[in-house]
Amino acid sequence: MHLPILDELKTDATQRHLIKLPGAALANDEPRPVISVAGAKPGPVLFVNAGVHGGEYPAVEAVIRLGKTLDPKKISGTVILMPVLNLPAFRTRTPFVCPIDNVNPNRVFPGDPRGSYSEQMTHACINEFVLHADAYVDLHGGDIPEALVPFVICRAGNDEVAKKSKAIAMAFGLPYALTVSKPVQPSKGHRAGAGGLSSYAAAADKGIPAILAEAGGAGQMQQEAIELLVDGVVNVMRHLGMIDDANVEFQISKSKANKTARNAVATTVLTKFEWLYTKSTGVWYPKVAPGDAVRGGEQIGTVGDLFGDTLEEIVSPVNGVVLFLTINPSVLENGLLMGIGAE
Ligand SMILES: [Zn+2]
Repeated sequence: MHLPILDELKTDATQRHLIKLPGAALANDEPRPVISVAGAKPGPVLFVNAGVHGGEYPAVEAVIRLGKTLDPKKISGTVILMPVLNLPAFRTRTPFVCPIDNVNPNRVFPGDPRGSYSEQMTHACINEFVLHADAYVDLHGGDIPEALVPFVICRAGNDEVAKKSKAIAMAFGLPYALTVSKPVQPSKGHRAGAGGLSSYAAAADKGIPAILAEAGGAGQMQQEAIELLVDGVVNVMRHLGMIDDANVEFQISKSKANKTARNAVATTVLTKFEWLYTKSTGVWYPKVAPGDAVRGGEQIGTVGDLFGDTLEEIVSPVNGVVLFLTINPSVLENGLLMGIGAE
């Protein structure tokens, strides 16, 4: 197997690469680390990246650990790992966007080679990596001001790619799986980008089964979240037939009890994703936590001013579960407060 942007991959070997992505806007970038793990036997190509958002650290660490832990002798096929795509955001601790163009890269897939920095970066990600893979896993989490309950997203539909994507999402093994047919968030606050899609949707459009998995957040490196994401990728490899022996373990410091408990978690499938915003600039007081069930019409938080008066009551529009929550109290007009998943 061969990716033009990487050196020739040797069979039965883990190789480290420092790559320059194509695109004039990216010409002066620090090289990005990529790790290839080419198995002893032939098989599918799986591309895994993190760091589309630069402050989602458990996802970044999960990719680093996979690179250190996956044993090519035990693998059929090839795993390509990129710990951080949006390196400018990682270096500057910038949440949600890339600081070079202030664009959220996960709203401008599949990108544009003549567009802004983020558009060129997402275009390079799709063309140099995703299109050479048989499946794509994009690892995320809550960004620096967010907390969440672990969940996975893929595109809804009855076509082959959507079905394969959903099977990968279920194999990943997180508590919730969202299947969505439209962009989960319109491009807000900046010009609509090229394509305007998230990573998994752009990949699926191009025929590559893909998921986006989320765990951890709040600008920290939660061990549990890292292990969920590492285990999830290994589960996907097993699902794709890249690991022959069901007992092969690549683990990574964790108690047996923990693992048994996690394996027992059934995945709940959700099909609606409601994002709630505040109309007011102020102080955010959520009354719910990630994973909480909410009812339509229930007051789930308030936004106040700096005198302590309530400006706005936030009410759930649906019966559902809080999947992610802004935990930082400072919010701006039209600021994102939370995402609620519903069946
Ligand atoms: Zn993210």
